[in-house]
Amino acid sequence: MSDNLKLAELLFPDITQTPADMEEKFPPRSLKEGARVTRLAPSPTGFLHFGNLFAGTVAYKTAKVTDGIFYVRVEDTDQKRKVEGAIKVMLDGLKAFDVTADEGVIGEGIEKGDYGPYYQSQRKDIYHVFAKQLVLDGLAYPCFCSAEELDEIRAAQENEPIKGYWGSYAKCRNLSFEEIEKNISEAKPWTLRLRSPGDMEKKCFFDDMIKGKIEMPENVQDVVLLKSDGIPTYHFAHAVDDHLMRTTHVVRGDEWMSSCPIHLQLFKCLGFKVPKYAHVAPIMKEENGGKRKLSKRKDPEAAVTFYVEKGYPKESVNEYIMTLMNSNFEDWRKTNKDADINSFPFNLKKMSVSGALFDMVKLNDISKNIISLMPAKKVYDYASAWAKDYDKDFFELLTKDEEYSVNILNIDRETPKPRKDIACFDEIKDYVSYFFDEIYEKNYELPENITPDMAKEILEAYIKEYNGADDKQQWFDRIKALCEPLGYTPNVKEYKKTPELFKGHVGDVSTVIRIAVTGRRNTPDLHAIMSLLGEDKVKARLTDAIESL
Ligand code: GLU
Repeated sequence: MSDNLKLAELLFPDITQTPADMEEKFPPRSLKEGARVTRLAPSPTGFLHFGNLFAGTVAYKTAKVTDGIFYVRVEDTDQKRKVEGAIKVMLDGLKAFDVTADEGVIGEGIEKGDYGPYYQSQRKDIYHVFAKQLVLDGLAYPCFCSAEELDEIRAAQENEPIKGYWGSYAKCRNLSFEEIEKNISEAKPWTLRLRSPGDMEKKCFFDDMIKGKIEMPENVQDVVLLKSDGIPTYHFAHAVDDHLMRTTHVVRGDEWMSSCPIHLQLFKCLGFKVPKYAHVAPIMKEENGGKRKLSKRKDPEAAVTFYVEKGYPKESVNEYIMTLMNSNFEDWRKTNKDADINSFPFNLKKMSVSGALFDMVKLNDISKNIISLMPAKKVYDYASAWAKDYDKDFFELLTKDEEYSVNILNIDRETPKPRKDIACFDEIKDYVSYFFDEIYEKNYELPENITPDMAKEILEAYIKEYNGADDKQQWFDRIKALCEPLGYTPNVKEYKKTPELFKGHVGDVSTVIRIAVTGRRNTPDLHAIMSLLGEDKVKARLTDAIESL
């Protein structure tokens, strides 16, 4: 028996399967030519960062534009970091924005597909099959160095260009079989390390789908493949999983770029075809004239739950993400106004290399536009679904009389120029508050040129004239007719020419009425508002204003 064989049996006595068995069990997928297989591989931290949703959307779209497969693999090898309910938080966050997996972990503890298990914690034997093969091939060895010994190595490397476990620093690289056997019989803990075949004088290359052609020195480090508890490191699990799950395009954060030489080498040592890589730059934020990463600690909008809690419709967030993803999306949108976002030809090559800039104002503008184009019933359905989860009292109010609420939301909607004033559903309560006595707050703050007495005079005259049955023209004519007897002009142009002749113009008169009825200076179409409120409520509001002013 060769030493490699003896060593492999010593380290992995229970592993009887071979890489060939694994290849057979997880054969190449039969997908149509060009179909891409991508994944999102979250660690179950219980927090879904906007960057995860962003990278997840990139991976999802990459698969979808080719009729491929997008799957979710849970990277739960770090048991210390495990958080209860974390998977649900993450999957819910993705689902809220339509990033749904075809395969993999599709619910907490629920898996779908033939390439599982999709929880890394359940794949230990699979990793060990390949670990054993590497030992057999002389490409991996056990390392018995303690934490103190590794610290000593690091301390001795101060002047070395390359730190870590390599070359002559790799103390366990050349242990004899007998030495290893002795250590194992003494139950010394060990990690499995790669016997790196790298040459620091040589370069490795790959063509990143986002970053372009990349050239880096080869890896020379004998990186850890299995930790002392037999759990794989990210590097090893990445190679084994993405190979066996037949990932064609590894879309991941660009913090992994610097590890690529290790990964390329590992794929080679394992005899795997290297997947295509697409390294996504982090989402950035402008601060004090500079740029920094969108931060979980500093920015509430870094959490995907932020968008759900505020009630941004998925259409808005997806549209915004697409503007961050592809620089040509906005031009496409201009010429394809009504097209489904899924018909946009998303291209990895058009992604930002250095990191797209997060812009809340832009998200809000996009969202206002999208919501303005929705039919009132859709806004109602979305808003009530949101309120049900996040504002129970408002939910009761909004859904008490569906027709009334839909009519409210229909004011200045479904017209050629709909109002664009709602960015997210948590703004709706305030937006419609004056329609509901329960939440209406009066506020009689008048324009500068109108005193309370002037306002009172206008309202006293108006309440006598007001007729709830008026159509819009009659309603406005009545307000105009009120102007002259009270010293205002119905003609704004005339007022602008000779303001000294008048107390104000028709706009001031209607503003006073608007304030009395709604508590606001700015609202959608006042005639529509008053019609919906109905004569009794309008009169009550006018009276109340007269008494309060
Ligand atoms: N679990 C890794 C992370 O959360 C995944 C990286 C990858 O996509 O390969 O960073």
